[in-house]
Amino acid sequence: MEARKFRKVMAANRGEIAIRIFRACTELGISTVAIYSEEDKLSLHRYKADEAYLVGKGKAPIDAYLGIDEIIALAKKREVDAIHPGYGFLAENAEFAEKCEANGIAFIGPTAEMQRALGDKVAARKVAKAAGVTTVPGTEEPITHEEDALIFAKNHGYPIIIKAAAGGGGRGMRVATDKKELLEGLQSASSEAKAAFGDPSVFLERYLKNPKHIEVQVLGDAYGNLVHFYERDCSIQRRHQKVVEFAPSLALPGATRLALCTDALKIANQVGYRNAGTVEFLLDEDGKYYFIEMNPRIQVEHTVTEMITGRNLVQAQILIAEGKRLSDPEINIPNQGSIEMRGYAIQCRITTEDPGNNFAPDFGTLSTYRSSAGCGVRLDAGNAFTGAQITPHYDSLLVKVSAWGLTFAEAAHIMDRSLQEFRVRGVKTNIGFLENVITHPVFLAGGCNTSFIDQHPELLV
Ligand code: ADP
Repeated sequence: MEARKFRKVMAANRGEIAIRIFRACTELGISTVAIYSEEDKLSLHRYKADEAYLVGKGKAPIDAYLGIDEIIALAKKREVDAIHPGYGFLAENAEFAEKCEANGIAFIGPTAEMQRALGDKVAARKVAKAAGVTTVPGTEEPITHEEDALIFAKNHGYPIIIKAAAGGGGRGMRVATDKKELLEGLQSASSEAKAAFGDPSVFLERYLKNPKHIEVQVLGDAYGNLVHFYERDCSIQRRHQKVVEFAPSLALPGATRLALCTDALKIANQVGYRNAGTVEFLLDEDGKYYFIEMNPRIQVEHTVTEMITGRNLVQAQILIAEGKRLSDPEINIPNQGSIEMRGYAIQCRITTEDPGNNFAPDFGTLSTYRSSAGCGVRLDAGNAFTGAQITPHYDSLLVKVSAWGLTFAEAAHIMDRSLQEFRVRGVKTNIGFLENVITHPVFLAGGCNTSFIDQHPELLV
């Protein structure tokens, strides 16, 4: 791969991740370009870039950030060298990655081919199997006949989880505890998948009881060098979506951690993975782990990994796309041993949602926004300032709060203090709910599994 230096990078995204990308670019001496929709004309990410351009005039608010041809044409006109897609929107759109490269613009992420090999969960399970990594027992192919689903149920028993092959963000999933739910779930999951992802394919997995969600951050350059950054525990979820994440896990004996991280690298190696990615596993109550999927992009919760390793993953993504090697001085990862963990980090996602009303998104003007700061706190905010308009058009993430401490207890105390310090008025938030989670004894013992929130309705008050 020919190495080159980017002068100008565009973030094809909005909110906190666009700002995160601009910061990484500025630190590297690269100038920045934002795109924004009509609905986002007053949003903070627009003002955090050196240049900003309106896209998607007359289009629906979400579609503004999905206009592949318009975004690429704009990037060419403004002499952008590379595009970072962030997460969501076009981040896992192989056609976008391909068209960027065809137009001489570097795509900051894995190749279209790698995205295709991993973006579909059925395909990703095959990659894992070929790499010799255990997957959750499930169907080899999407279900095309009810009969095949019933045979799986007979062989494996209930509960079963029905999943969209193209799924993400917890959508297109159903848990079935009997035949009726299985047959109904196949229909409804498939329709939901078609509407959300344009692909109705669904497959089945055994539904593990109270697992922990443990994922491994990996990073590869264009020359086959690949490292991991240890794991994150993302078990605290609502509707299969992550709410609080931390690193490292408190539930992994050293030997399991080593095996898990090694397996993550095997899967990434299998497709010659390049750039940042996350290999996700479920850890069952017996301490056995199973691969579920690999996400070929930077994730929301990458901050906790950055805090415990002292590494800047978004900068590394940009440098890798420039053609740098992991061992080059700018990235400075000559080998796996150069990645060290220190302390513990926790991230809470503050959202403009009302826990008292089933987490319905709330909208309006932030009449007060005073954030926390101080020792051990990192904030990655989207459109968060006094006077900001919170609209119903996009996801409800307001600010990510990350806390670091030498011990898990210390990180939790810093997070608690930090959440208490926030003052957000005018729009409802989940701050009180987050405080209930991070002060809970099960959380403090590192014992939460994916059922924790459902099993503790008192967290909502
Ligand atoms: P998405 O791509 O939508 O995020 P994932 O496959 O990553 O979907 O799963 C999201 C979450 O759903 C997991 O973290 C876990 O809580 C739950 N889940 C997924 N598969 C299973 C399974 N086989 N058994 C139990 N829970 C599961």
